[in-house]
Amino acid sequence: MIGIFGGTFDPIHFGHLRPALELFEILQLDELRLIPAGVPPHRRAPCASTGQRLLMLRKAIAGQPGFVLDERETERSGPSYMVDTLSELRAELGDRRSICLLLGMDAFLGLNSWHRWREIPRLAHLVVSHRPGWLPEHLDDHGGPLAELADSSLVADPLELGRKPAGLFFMHPVTQLDISSTRIRALIREGRNPRYLLPDEIWMYIQEQQLYR
Ligand code: ATP
Repeated sequence: MIGIFGGTFDPIHFGHLRPALELFEILQLDELRLIPAGVPPHRRAPCASTGQRLLMLRKAIAGQPGFVLDERETERSGPSYMVDTLSELRAELGDRRSICLLLGMDAFLGLNSWHRWREIPRLAHLVVSHRPGWLPEHLDDHGGPLAELADSSLVADPLELGRKPAGLFFMHPVTQLDISSTRIRALIREGRNPRYLLPDEIWMYIQEQQLYR
């Protein structure tokens, strides 16, 4: 079973890394691929360059067995659509292998605005982790197609995800860390210290490169 964790990672922080590791263990993944968006379709262009974001990711996962950096979205031109990424991975990995798309609750609640989003559950399982400020109850308030999708495919045992290649929904309350890249960038811009919100090595690199000032 393989996990896919996409994002802008501008910069990567402990709110990405800790939940990713917890899900890696709980789902008993063979591999967790971090896939930084080249051109994120739903937001402003990242502040750090692609090369800088890739380097920060490489530093952050160095020495963590099973964590792999997948650069495909930064190598493609045009917007980085998850449906294209998953279609490529499905073609590479075959029809039988389970693929789990890991999303924070905030990302999941926006899923129905993603390009060709209805194809996504046919390509992968959805594994949604809680994120501070985004309660699972928001899903019911949201109603509509996402709540329906979650209700109709929900499984309680993560190991069930290994029995089918795609199409199931699993939710998990990972350790709640109220950290965002936006907040880290704002702290740096204000001349404050973001230490202990992200790995020291990344903070050192940000200072060296004079990023986010
Ligand atoms: P920004 O503040 O720039 O929007 P971000 O901190 O939200 O960035 P992204 O790179 O956009 O980070 O997020 C990638 C993925 O990581 C998304 O699925 C998001 O839900 C998840 N994520 C980010 N931060 C956290 C966190 N603190 N706890 C749980 N999930 C998180």
